[in-house]
Amino acid sequence: MAAQQFLISGQAFNAPKLDAALYLVSTPIGNLKDISIRGLETLAGADLILCEDTRTSSKLLNAYGIQTQKTSLHEHNEVAQAQNIVNEVVSGKSICLISDAGTPLISDPGFPLVRLAAQAGIPIFAIPGASAVLGALAVSGLPTDSFSFFGFLPAKQQARLSRLGDLKSHEMTMVFYESPKRTAATLAAIGEAYGADRQVVVARELTKRFETLYRGTAQELAAQFDGQAVKGEVVILVAGAQRQAQADPDEWKNALVALMEELPLRGAVDKIAADFDLKRKQVYQAALELRDGK
Ligand code: SAM
Repeated sequence: MAAQQFLISGQAFNAPKLDAALYLVSTPIGNLKDISIRGLETLAGADLILCEDTRTSSKLLNAYGIQTQKTSLHEHNEVAQAQNIVNEVVSGKSICLISDAGTPLISDPGFPLVRLAAQAGIPIFAIPGASAVLGALAVSGLPTDSFSFFGFLPAKQQARLSRLGDLKSHEMTMVFYESPKRTAATLAAIGEAYGADRQVVVARELTKRFETLYRGTAQELAAQFDGQAVKGEVVILVAGAQRQAQADPDEWKNALVALMEELPLRGAVDKIAADFDLKRKQVYQAALELRDGK
């Protein structure tokens, strides 16, 4: 087969010549069909593909008959290699970066290279596609209007609990990557940090044969996974903290009137602001109006 072609179900397609640039190509997170046609064209048309692990990526590249030269770029050599790669692009090469699965740089190598490439002003293109964070969020049933992705939690129990504690009042849906062997312990830690009732979703083996979603409270899922070795890859999603409901104005103003008969005005204001989680200024203004009979 001529170079710069790719195959889909045995049929050959030509890949157009690419401009010199760095191309960040998303690859599947399990199902080999989850790659875009543009992704295939870009991988087939490039001068070089930087792979997190060339053996892992060979499965994908062979499945689509892509013969582009490969080399490895991983967390242990990415800083040392970044300048050479930028120089190659400057000298006219088209270079792709892929990781073992999903979108490069998302809890995967590539950030030092992209930062240097951006500083050097060379063109960088995203060829978007699969990423476990978005797949898991979309199917979770948790709010998607705003969310935060935190990558992997610390592996050590105390550090993990402390990190979760820092996020206790975070109001957006939280998405974490987790290793299967720590999933049970992390679910227990979520219950400990956020209370038994917080809604949690575990998305396991997305796009693969044994894809499964587990939904429930932190307590339910911690019990379900307790002592179990999870098989396959997981994303853990946690509902954001509930925003405090605004106190009923009639209720707090009645309480304020009653308290102003017992306490000096400032003392009553402080207590009502604290008890009803209100801004002190707002309560103080109401107290003046009530005192002056407005
Ligand atoms: N770059 C990848 C991406 O865009 O999703 C993530 C790479 S990170 C090293 C690997 C983690 O992603 C796994 O530990 C797991 O949390 C999550 N993950 C990857 N593939 C998954 C899948 N098919 N189902 C569930 N989680 C997955």
